[in-house]
Parts: sequence; structure tokens; C-alpha cells
Amino acid sequence: MKHFFTTACLLFALATGARAQSLPATPAQSEGFKTISEYGEIVAFLNEISAFADVRVIGSSVQQRNIYAVEFPKGSFGKDTGKLKVLIFAQQHGNEQSGKEAVLLLISELSKPGYRHLFEQIDLAVIPQINPDGGELNQRRNAKSTDLNRNHLILTEPETQSLHAYFDRNHFDMTVDVHEYSPFGDSWMKYGYRKNAQVTFGALTNYNIGGNIRGFEKKTALPFVMKEVASKGYTTFEYCPGGPPGVDYIRFSTFDINDGRQSFGSQGVLSFIQEGMNGEDMFTDNLEIRATSQLSGLMGFLRFAKENSVEIRELVRQERALISSKTEGSEVCIQAVHKSDGTILPLPLVNIRTLKDTTVNVSDFRPVVHCLKNVEAPFAYLIPKGDKMLVQWIETMNFETLSKIKKGKFNFSTKQITGFYSVDFEDDTIQLPQTVARPSGKFNLKEYIILPVNQLKGRIMVQALEPESMISLATYPQFTYLTENRSIYPILTVSRKK
Ligand SMILES: [Zn+2]
Repeated sequence: MKHFFTTACLLFALATGARAQSLPATPAQSEGFKTISEYGEIVAFLNEISAFADVRVIGSSVQQRNIYAVEFPKGSFGKDTGKLKVLIFAQQHGNEQSGKEAVLLLISELSKPGYRHLFEQIDLAVIPQINPDGGELNQRRNAKSTDLNRNHLILTEPETQSLHAYFDRNHFDMTVDVHEYSPFGDSWMKYGYRKNAQVTFGALTNYNIGGNIRGFEKKTALPFVMKEVASKGYTTFEYCPGGPPGVDYIRFSTFDINDGRQSFGSQGVLSFIQEGMNGEDMFTDNLEIRATSQLSGLMGFLRFAKENSVEIRELVRQERALISSKTEGSEVCIQAVHKSDGTILPLPLVNIRTLKDTTVNVSDFRPVVHCLKNVEAPFAYLIPKGDKMLVQWIETMNFETLSKIKKGKFNFSTKQITGFYSVDFEDDTIQLPQTVARPSGKFNLKEYIILPVNQLKGRIMVQALEPESMISLATYPQFTYLTENRSIYPILTVSRKK
């Protein structure tokens, strides 16, 4: 592995032009990265930082720890609507410590006066720990054993609820979700080679997210950020889970909207994942390099955001307008598969025994998300007010509702469940209901909440509420009652009479 820069050297390079000023070191930094920054130390650190940035409590965890957001520039975050709004959040997974450490280093770095130029174009919010309980326990999940990065659709956890409420209040244009990957699993050890990139980056993959946004991320943003990281002496590659070659295929990100990046991306935002490489002990091993390499990626993203702020804002504006006014009648993909397009992936690996770099050509590489089933988005869905689970979900999701509609202008249909069929969803076999649409018959509109699809979360809504969607609400244990052991799906569909 190449790491030509020590932390001090890197930070100096990043802050070129800044006056030397005594700034609070991060807790791990002041202990030489021999140990992680613990929650109590982070609270003290953020208290010192509040002289340079606004520190806000945006919610609390299962065990009542605060979730903090640090907002730059101090005193004026969110006030100038002409600026690009960027959100960086880390440690959804508690045992991925370096994301948090990098974000703390970032906060310290950006507190220097040399970054005024950056904040003339950008308002930045950074959340070091979405999952402070998991962080303290060095465990992936939160204190209720929920994987927060599989919770962005049903939003049952206080941590994801806090993040989404904060996102909704601030209308961010760009987000980066910071993680770590571990290349040290058994199957790789057996294979004899492992992945070796110190920082990897992933773009949006959900089929329903506009091609302009996905294309701009992949063709413009990722190469820019990867070049920045390489220029600081770190190894980097595109985020591509799966493998080892010959054992399992390699693809890009999941297209499921239950993770942080696709759920925000589905709302017309430029959204990314950054993954550093975890240590062999999944804790403090190699922590300094892990944190500083991730920091170089975050600085790359900020530089990209600054240099492209006008184009990003325009892309986001167009995409949001499209979702908010034209989701109705559009084709929404509800079943998809990762597919090969014939590309062979040259995957950089390292020999586990000799530590020599090598490149393996991966033939089972599936970079394309191919849609298998579409639906035409209706005008609205009707949610029975008597269903407490659904009513609570609608409130948490912060959907817009309509108080009334003219019944005579619409057709109302229901879906009859005639059986179940199996589909492959990212290596799991799942059961989906076979449905047939039928006119609804008589019902009292007052007993339903009206959810129009023409709203910022309209595409999410269609993928969540269509019963044959492979990423629908009904695929979660809490919501299987919507389709199991019943002949009629309880959510009605509203379409305009033609
Ligand atoms: Zn993770």
C-alpha cells in the first residue's frame, strides 16, 4: 500500500494558504490514533468546535445519545438559497470507525480560516455519527440490532428518522454517505488475493433515478474525486461489492431504496457512497491511514462540489421539478436485475501472502441495472386510515397528502392477489404477489388518506406501494401483512379518467 503522506503533512497540503491557528485536535488524533474517538470525547470536541461552526443536535439514538450535525459557515448556514447545500454523514455502521474519524478531521480542518472561499459557494453539514450507540459498541447495527443502512424506507429507527427529518428540512443538493469495507473475509483469504483500495466511491444505481444525474455522477464526479485521492498518494477504485472472482459476481451498488444513497438520490439529489478499507481487527488497526485516506476523499468531494456548484444545482433543480410534477404517468421500474454488458473488469488486487499488487480480469461482472418490470405511476394511492402501521409510516416519511379530490374525475382500482411467485433479488430469492387490477367497487373516500405521486418522494412512493415491487414495503417483516393471507391488497390506486 502506498501512503506517502503522514496526517500532519496531508493536512498541511489541504490547508495551503491558511494561517496557522490552534484548533482542537480530534480525540483520536490527540491520542495518536491508538484508540478511537469515543462518544463523550466527541461531545467535548464539538463543544470546542462550536467557536468555528454551528453544532446542532438533530435527534437522539435508541440509547439517548445525541446525533450531532456541524454546519458551515457559522451563523449563515441555510440563509443564502443561492448556495449549493452538501450533506456528509458517517458511521451508520458502528464498526466502521474511520468514516467518523475522517469526518472529525474534516470538521477540524474546515474550521481553519483558509476555507472561506469554499463556503462562499457551499453550505455544508456534516454528521460524524448517525449510529453513536453502535459506534460505542463497535457493532454494525444500532442498539435495537437494526441495520440502519437497510432502514431508509421503513424508517422505524430514531437514528434514520432524525437523518431524514434533517434532510427534509434542509433540501440538500448533494450527499455523501461514509462507510468502510472489509476485504479480509474467509472467501478472499481462500482465494489468495484481496481488494486493496484504501478508498472506494459509488454512484447512484437505482433505475428510476434520472439518467442525467447518474451519468454526471459516474462520468464527471467519480473520476474527479478518485484523481484527487490518488494525488494524495492513496489507492482508490470504484465501489464494487461481490467476488472473489470465480466464486461470486461483481457489480456496483444495490438499487434498493432502503439505503442512504438511493433514498436521497431518489429525491433528485446527487448522492454518493464512500467506503474506506477497514482494519484487519475491524477496529483500531491502521486507524490513522484509514481516517486520512477517507479525509482525502471527502476533501475531493468538496472540491468537486465547489468547482461544479452551478451545474449541480441546475441538475438537481431539473430533476426535482420532474419528480414533483411528472411522476404521474411515467414508467416506474419495480423489478430489476444486475446484468453484464460484456465488459471485463480489470480488478486491482493484492496477493495476501506476498503483498504484491496484481490485476485480475473479472468476466462475471454485472455493471448494468436492467429493468424487468415497469408500472405506469397512477395519480395517487389511497391508504386506509384504519391501518396504524401505514399511517405512522406516512407521517414519518413526511409525504404530502391531499385533503380531497373530485371522485367523478377518477377511476379507483384495487389489486386482487391471485398467488405468489419467486424472483431473484440481489442473490436472495423473494416471494412476490401475483396481482390483477379490478375496479374498486363502493367505498368511503373519507376513510382513506390520499397520497398524490407528484411530489418529491413520488418515485419512492410508487416503488414502496406497488405490491409487485421487489423493494416494496410488503417485503419487510413489519409489513408482510399487506399481501400475505389475503386476497385483496388494502391500498387503492387512483387514476385520472381519460
Ligand atoms: Zn457500512
